[in-house]
Amino acid sequence: MKVLKFGGTSVGSVENMHNVKEIINDGDKKVVVLSAMSGTTNQLVSIAQDISAGKPNVAIDKINNLHETYFSTIDNLLNDALLNTDVKNYVSSVFELLVDCTNKEFSEALENQILAQGELLSTYMFNSYLRQEGISASLLPALNFMRIDAFKEPDIKYIKQHFKSVLNNTENSEVYITQGFICLDDEGGISNLQRGGSDYTATIIGAAIKAEEVQIWTDIDGMHNNDPRYVENTRAISNLSFEEAAELAYFGAKILHPQTVTPVRKDSIPVRLKNTMKPAAHGTLISKSTSENGIKAIAAKDNIIAIKIKSARMLQAHGFLKKVFEIFETYQTSIDMITTSEVAVSLTIDDDKNLDKILAELDKIALIEVDKNQSIVCLVGHSVVNHQDTYKLFQILQDVKIRMISYGGSNNNISLLIDSKDKINTLQKLNDYLFELVTL
Ligand code: ADP
Ligand code: ASP
Ligand code: MG
Repeated sequence: MKVLKFGGTSVGSVENMHNVKEIINDGDKKVVVLSAMSGTTNQLVSIAQDISAGKPNVAIDKINNLHETYFSTIDNLLNDALLNTDVKNYVSSVFELLVDCTNKEFSEALENQILAQGELLSTYMFNSYLRQEGISASLLPALNFMRIDAFKEPDIKYIKQHFKSVLNNTENSEVYITQGFICLDDEGGISNLQRGGSDYTATIIGAAIKAEEVQIWTDIDGMHNNDPRYVENTRAISNLSFEEAAELAYFGAKILHPQTVTPVRKDSIPVRLKNTMKPAAHGTLISKSTSENGIKAIAAKDNIIAIKIKSARMLQAHGFLKKVFEIFETYQTSIDMITTSEVAVSLTIDDDKNLDKILAELDKIALIEVDKNQSIVCLVGHSVVNHQDTYKLFQILQDVKIRMISYGGSNNNISLLIDSKDKINTLQKLNDYLFELVTL
């Protein structure tokens, strides 16, 4: 069986839902993972923020506006009177629940419950739409099988077992629709796989059922060689290895959730990235195959914090780095880049949740300098560190202040840390000189 995931834009309008129906209506049995309609999760985040800030009335206005938008979408999507009424009743029950949430005390659990509603709404609507169109479809509630453990990792064994039993208890159908993004935590409460997590849902299910292929359908024709939101003249890449795709996703290529590749890599389940609006375009195939050496794509990750830890006296002493790493481990904060010199070690993190506590601990053993608003620019390609063009980087970026470089950590990745204000210029320059055959 294949797993097909459709993102927010793909289910964000009646016209696009029609495209999705055409794509999935090919007679094959499949699992379809859906995101919330585009914009909904952002709205739910802002509703949760209003509740947390003690502004329930602002939240209620947003809830009512969203309710109206959904009703008008339903009227355009469902002309079958019974289905139209049934979906409106369901949607109204969701919006009543959201209004109820505005009377409650804010907590992480409440926020997670609010954020989960987007995918519950889109899947319910889309399932009814397929039924209206005569396609045999059923819902598989993600909260009955998708679960993360205490380390926030997918509990694959649990997911395998529960997915199977949910499937066995569901009417035999051609299309099994489920919610992306949402899951249970290790205590059985509602949680999620972080923003953009529907991609991750698709590959987790793909791994659990040993799918033939996972397809990620979005609003662009595959992984581009640079971030198309900031850079002109980017191009889709037709093939990527799992390693290359994992590096790009982890280092900021927004088309994929950072962990998307992890579940399917072990079993070499191919992942195909496709454009819902242009199904004929080749897209990108992520598979086991290795590719030619050289720089293939560039990505950037924002909101990076650089910490320089200086200690002339202690750095050479063995055990110093261990102490530093233990502090990050205690506060469950992972380090992305690291460089050392005789007197200092510089490293970066992207999670500032425990920053104050980490800095207070580090302060006891060394002198600390912290720089926020940094970006990691990451160049990815098979054996990129050995490629003949790599030496050009310093020439191309001679007017950019590079704060750290990571070279050789893996053969497939060279990372540079720069100030975020230099990001767009850096990405465009790298694009022009590395991919557009502009000479220096
Ligand atoms: P979906 O809602 O379908 O999950 P996303 O917005 O999460 O879609 O991802 C698709 C978007 O990712 C594209 O519209 C594009 O702007 C952005 N993007 C960023 N970097 C890349 C890249 N290297 N290749 C393709 N798209 C990228
Ligand atoms: N709806 C969620 C989000 O906007 C998950 C996803 O779209 O993948 O982050
Ligand atoms: Mg996404």
